[in-house]
Amino acid sequence: MTPARVLHFIDGGPAEAASGASFEDRDPATGELLAHVARGDAADVDRAVDAGHRALAGAWGATSVDERAALLERTAALLEARADEAALLESEDSGKPLALARRLDIPRAIANLRFFAQAVRQAGAPCHPMADALNYTVRKPLGVVALITPWNLPLYLLTWKAAPALAMGNAVVAKPSELTPRTASLLAELLTEAGAPSGAFNVVHGFGAEAGEPLCAHAGVRGVSFTGGTATGARVAQVAAPGFKKLSLELGGKNATLVFADADLEAAADGAVRAAFTNQGQICLCGSRVLVEASIHDRFLDAMVARVARLRTGDPRDPASDLGALISHAHRDKVEGYLRLAREEGGTVRVGGGRPALQPPLDGGAFLEPTLVSGLAPGCRTATEEIFGPVATVHPFTDEAEALAMANGVRYGLSASLWTRDLARAHRAAARLDVGMVWVNTWLHRDLRVPFGGVKQSGVGREGGGWSLEFFSEAVNVCVHLGERS
Ligand code: NAD
Repeated sequence: MTPARVLHFIDGGPAEAASGASFEDRDPATGELLAHVARGDAADVDRAVDAGHRALAGAWGATSVDERAALLERTAALLEARADEAALLESEDSGKPLALARRLDIPRAIANLRFFAQAVRQAGAPCHPMADALNYTVRKPLGVVALITPWNLPLYLLTWKAAPALAMGNAVVAKPSELTPRTASLLAELLTEAGAPSGAFNVVHGFGAEAGEPLCAHAGVRGVSFTGGTATGARVAQVAAPGFKKLSLELGGKNATLVFADADLEAAADGAVRAAFTNQGQICLCGSRVLVEASIHDRFLDAMVARVARLRTGDPRDPASDLGALISHAHRDKVEGYLRLAREEGGTVRVGGGRPALQPPLDGGAFLEPTLVSGLAPGCRTATEEIFGPVATVHPFTDEAEALAMANGVRYGLSASLWTRDLARAHRAAARLDVGMVWVNTWLHRDLRVPFGGVKQSGVGREGGGWSLEFFSEAVNVCVHLGERS
């Protein structure tokens, strides 16, 4: 296949990098060169932000809520018509199973566009009547907003931000991950085909330090919605804060799956395995620490091991593959480093731990078997640092208090999943977990209306439903005196 040329998307059309530079986008499963991608820098960011401001001053700034909602709906329909192509781009860029991209990434991207079209049509605004005056609140767009997204769920997370940002009338400059650039360009193309005015949605490709940072620092950007690693989030906050920009940070996690002895253990074992290994364990919500009541620990661990041993790691294009490749060889090196650390820290690899033997062209791919480690102290580095790969650790606990202390004993606080048949315990524990999201007897069961986000070092702010519409707008109160002297 001839590598594609992926350009920025600025002011309604594709644009070369001002510097003329490009970088390579490769398939981590095969090493195939997929595309030469425009390598953005501050000059490209300037052009994109300027285009956003012109759009706001022109046709885009004049659109109604209904016109913007209809634009998102047309874009959703166009994406649906090209869903197979979008899923293939996502699978090739990231190494994830094509079946997963078809089942999860692309349907969810379509749902995001449709959901926020509906949500903005139905959004109201408060009114606070006084005896002699009427207050009403209007929501105005922030202006030009920066959307910075990671590689694990590229179009899923970009549409999760772009749909509400556009619905509220902002102009967008998106900086997708340099590892998964192609579906962001596809989204720009589809929005334009659906009728988005020039400059409403811009994409600048490139690396974090070269393109992301100038975008976060840009004086013309009024809000930054960032999803990515915790260390990067701290840098984004540092760069954006002096400009008093609105900031939403969705960061890393080290989420616990808590399994009590009274749980439906078959369902819990299925759930714990799904939570640990979906998308090769590269979802911020993955349950990478499985905390199991001591009385059932050995039995439950065996049940997990049996399930994990049946998972197939291989060709992302093969529908029989449960896991594909990790995002890159560098990332696999990092994950394998944690497997070495796990052994040094006294852990035992119960299943997995190696690279699967695959035929060319997959033999050099960034594959790693799904791995369960037991026997580690819950406070050790392997059990508390974010690995973001197909590795989960399993630990026993003696009672609810110890389970909660272990679950909360990390610097992250994104999500937890809790398995029990005891209703009172479910509510009690949910209230005591220091996380932004708790699932009881399920995992990653999503309703797009609910708040999404973390506490501690997993982030600041909430996205989802009305929270997203609120983030991507400024509330302005208008107080109208009713004619009596006050
Ligand atoms: P990352 O932090 O390396 O990169 C994320 C994005 O930030 C990329 O587009 C990158 O180019 C950009 N970036 C890097 N340095 C930057 C800088 N100095 N200024 C501005 N932008 C910069 O993260 P990643 O490796 O792409 O993704 C994995 C991480 O994302 C994991 O930690 C995972 O937990 C987290 N994540 C969180 C959520 C959530 O909703 N909380 C969702 C998905 C992923």
